[in-house]
Amino acid sequence: MPLPPGSLLELTPQGLYCRAARAWIDPWRPVPRALITHAHADHARPGCGEYWATGVSEGILRQRLGAGINLIPVDYGQLHRIGGARLSFHSAGHVLGSAQIRLEAGGESWLVSGDYKRCADPSCAAFEPVQADVFITEATFGLPIYRWRPGAELAGEILEWWRAAPQRPSILFAYAFGKAQRLLAELAAIGVGEPGQPGGEGNEILLHGAVEALMPAYREAGVRLPPTGPASALGRGANLAGRLVIAPPSAHRSVWMKRFKLPQTAFVSGWMAVRGARRRRGYERGFVLSDHADWPGLIRSVKDSGARQVYVTHGNSDGLARYLRELEGISAEPLAGGVGAELDDHRDGDGDDAAGDDGDGDDGDGDDAVARGS
Ligand SMILES: [Zn+2]
Repeated sequence: MPLPPGSLLELTPQGLYCRAARAWIDPWRPVPRALITHAHADHARPGCGEYWATGVSEGILRQRLGAGINLIPVDYGQLHRIGGARLSFHSAGHVLGSAQIRLEAGGESWLVSGDYKRCADPSCAAFEPVQADVFITEATFGLPIYRWRPGAELAGEILEWWRAAPQRPSILFAYAFGKAQRLLAELAAIGVGEPGQPGGEGNEILLHGAVEALMPAYREAGVRLPPTGPASALGRGANLAGRLVIAPPSAHRSVWMKRFKLPQTAFVSGWMAVRGARRRRGYERGFVLSDHADWPGLIRSVKDSGARQVYVTHGNSDGLARYLRELEGISAEPLAGGVGAELDDHRDGDGDDAAGDDGDGDDGDGDDAVARGS
């Protein structure tokens, strides 16, 4: 369903537009002024005149879009005026620096969630519930089958998996920005990297270059992480048995893998909750850890927003909107023909692009998930 004419936000060929602020939110084409929810590639694209984004995400955005971009850093909760609109950024709990964007003009307020989650994540600030008249929410995992377990539990299982194979390198595949660092932070939170603990010797956890490149931004932000080193620093003949290696999915089945003898492999993603996804992708093990809201998290966030109107994008937008209307009595519609359509195209790919990253924290296999649950 398109947005009603004259709304505070409208859909244009460049993306979601706020006329009062003359600004686009996460535009997919170059525009004069972009408001960026977070630094994943399907939300932050190059070529815009002006980028408004959280100061926490500045380092990552400059690294990905160019050091010279015109970036206006904002704090969470800080109120700004642009033209006839007031806007503020609020933590989305998705990845480091991620934000929901709230816009207000003409006596009406809208909240755009970007990607978000409600589960605790030691690598970024927690989701902040914010109220608005209209809420645009994502629904990447918009089916009741998706219910996440705490990250600490998954970290415990990963640690066990790693330590059970001292004769082999253990390679964990996870998206290079966000998921990889969250994994490391979850491991640090259960003691990994402390002196005398696994990972405490400083050379036991190795990172692929695409993951390594984003580590300074996390360390500067004060995120507690175990000691890590670049996998590239070790020569081809090095003994990698017993090491834990974190790499983006694009490295799986690439020549990069040749340096590892008899590795055990695992993929970390919300899509690992879908039966068959792990085997089809050729991983020995799957760990279900997502940076998107699960089903209860989506419902809770819609209720927390207090919105009288909800629009749903990404993933199972039809199903979530129908559930909200029919079972919760909330006016909700899928947002069609714009944000959802364009971004779903991106997400339904394998997500392994040339840059060694995926664009988003939980990419690929979206079709299967929807088919299975419908
Ligand atoms: Zn994202």
